[in-house]
Amino acid sequence: MDALIPFLDLRIGNAELRTEIDSAVARVLESGWYILGPEVDNFEAEFAGYCQATHCVGVANGLDALHLALKAMGVGPGDEVIVPSNTYIATWLAVSQCGATPVPVEPDESTYNIDPELIEAAITSRTKVILPVHLYGQPADLDPILTIARKHGLRVLEDAAQAHGARYKGRRIGGHGDAVAWSFYPGKNLGALGDGGAVTTNDPQIADRLRVLRNYGSRVKYVNEERGYNSRLDPLQAAVLRVKLSHLDAWNARRTVLAQVYLDGLRGTGLVLPHVPDWAEPVWHLFVVRHARRDELQRALTDAGIGSLIHYPIPPHRQTAYADACFPADAFPLASRLAEEVLSLPIGPQMGIGQAQTVVAAITRTVPTL
Ligand SMILES: *Cc1c(COP(=O)(O)O)cnc(C)c1O
Repeated sequence: MDALIPFLDLRIGNAELRTEIDSAVARVLESGWYILGPEVDNFEAEFAGYCQATHCVGVANGLDALHLALKAMGVGPGDEVIVPSNTYIATWLAVSQCGATPVPVEPDESTYNIDPELIEAAITSRTKVILPVHLYGQPADLDPILTIARKHGLRVLEDAAQAHGARYKGRRIGGHGDAVAWSFYPGKNLGALGDGGAVTTNDPQIADRLRVLRNYGSRVKYVNEERGYNSRLDPLQAAVLRVKLSHLDAWNARRTVLAQVYLDGLRGTGLVLPHVPDWAEPVWHLFVVRHARRDELQRALTDAGIGSLIHYPIPPHRQTAYADACFPADAFPLASRLAEEVLSLPIGPQMGIGQAQTVVAAITRTVPTL
């Protein structure tokens, strides 16, 4: 049976914008530019403006945005990059792709984002970059991270793949750190109709290096100054993203309304609810609750026709992909515990308030039985 309330149905939002998307696609078709070109330039300028950053460089996906941004910062073999223990594995893989080592730091238990108080203990003479993630659309606590980075001569790259439009202390994510990596994977708050990514930065040297790296290490056609990559944002996706960007704030506002229904309706049910510090304006990419009997709760929701997902069921340090790091069995207990307890409820700009109320009612019924 299809869920009565799906976790997320991207077709509804794309149908809502069908006319605008059709004409954007037609514009690319008729332009004769199918790699980079004016559509990508225009999206980059518009997204940089939206993020209050001076530069934006479009790339093929979010993982490449992270990887190429680290390369542009000079990260290479032998270097260390501080990453959250509690994140999607892409954050770590980008570091590994540079030949560098991800050094995990546990989250703050109330925000699930990297705990700035634990960062200094993880810094060594090899550390080059601190890589906080704005997980679930909740901004990480950037000021103490930037202060630590300045004190130790490190760079800050933010993973903002889940945080399009979020604000930290009133200012949009996108221009706080040395560079900020974005994903436009279809399910993100700003999502394409396929893969896409970008890096925003106020550093002209990082932007310049990224433009070379994404395009075969070339500035002038057939002149290759370094061994680069083919990682360009597709102009068709850029055209779709320009349409979506013009609706991003309105769509994030709809998510905020739903999050408030959840926060009000689920208070006192015994679930651990998201905590929003007073300096944070999240964009609710995910609405994540916690319960010790998470699997039973998820089963009950499934039986009630309500979709839910787990972000993420296996933390990076427990993945076979990182078996060679030989982390001890009891390493990163908080990330491990979160993986057992978190549950993401349905949320998205096209979900109705009545649907959120149905989810609240189902949870209110279920939790006392767990
Ligand atoms: C989605 C995501 C990425 C990777 O983005 P892709 O476009 O899928 O490569 C990286 N980090 C986080 C936190 C993400 O959620």
